[in-house]
Amino acid sequence: MNKNITITKILCCLFAIVALMACDKEPFDNGKTLKKEEKEAPKEINDNTLYELPVVFHVLSNSTTKQEYIPNDVDLRRLLFYVNELYAGGIYGPSVNIRVKFVTATEDEEGKKMTTQGVVYDKWDEKYPINCEDFMTNNSNKYTKYLWDPNKYINVFVYLFDDDDNEAEVLGISHMPYKTKENATLQGLEQVASGKMTKKNIAFPLSVSINAKYINTLSARYSSGLKEKTFRGYKEEDVVVTLAHELGHYLGLFHVFAEDSKNGVVDQCFDSDYCQDTPSYNKKQYERDLQELSKHLTYENVHEIFQRTDCSGKVYEATNIMDYAYCYSYAFTPNQQYRMRQVLYYSPLIPGPKKTTNTRSIAPDKVLDLPIRISKCPR
Ligand SMILES: [Zn+2]
Repeated sequence: MNKNITITKILCCLFAIVALMACDKEPFDNGKTLKKEEKEAPKEINDNTLYELPVVFHVLSNSTTKQEYIPNDVDLRRLLFYVNELYAGGIYGPSVNIRVKFVTATEDEEGKKMTTQGVVYDKWDEKYPINCEDFMTNNSNKYTKYLWDPNKYINVFVYLFDDDDNEAEVLGISHMPYKTKENATLQGLEQVASGKMTKKNIAFPLSVSINAKYINTLSARYSSGLKEKTFRGYKEEDVVVTLAHELGHYLGLFHVFAEDSKNGVVDQCFDSDYCQDTPSYNKKQYERDLQELSKHLTYENVHEIFQRTDCSGKVYEATNIMDYAYCYSYAFTPNQQYRMRQVLYYSPLIPGPKKTTNTRSIAPDKVLDLPIRISKCPR
């Protein structure tokens, strides 16, 4: 935490960039697209199929929550616009097009038109700020009341995260999807027996959570016209990157650096994201190098904070959305595209047309004993 604050301060002093997000209040109304998608389901699903995935933001707050942490619906729709740019690729540097578009929901679960498109505001009647890990892993059906059908929507919760003084501040957290026999080759995901499941089968709030503390923090690139790989106006807590990153987890991606499924980041170097085209690195070593670099950071060498050394000793610049720390955060690779699309084609509790719509096995109508895997993402 201290090193991050120090480097952030140095960056601010070096560049004094005022990275203000655009103040225009264009509504980013994409409801028409969603309705069309519902009526005209694609006949054949293949790698060219554009997946339009409805998103519903649930903003959780109580009477003590500051207004700045209760985002308005226009700003949240704007976030999805920028996230879609990252998923389409090729805007800040080379990246594949995932052919996924996140659209804000226009109707609630009962088919009623939403008053604030894509956003619901719920009152939280427990301790606030909220412990994100406790919320996400609670498996007692306590929080599923907030959840909208995961087969139709991706649920994104926005609330203040309860800080744990012993850990780096968490920006976002996501559940990992399940795999089935059809996409069983996807390593690292938990396999379930049924390809079709309903909300009744889960007792935990299957979703993405975003820390409201940074809900208004965007890098300058979105409003400044800087469509290039640049550290100018860079913000480590960029909420667009956080949301794009968490949605990457939700669609089956792991972090690019070496992680252990039980212990998280480990002081070793090995490939743990099952994508051979994303170089891996020892994040603990990177943090030590960063600490050293921060002692003599100048305008000339500041770009080195974006550099990583992969497991073979090769130095490269970090651009992948599934990295974090100092990273240009605009790239997905073909292997990552493959994983996300396999999840879209076959995994249960994920919106969008399935390749197995007519053949997949249906889960029994009860709560199932399912493994819960989350990815927690500190700054
Ligand atoms: Zn993450």
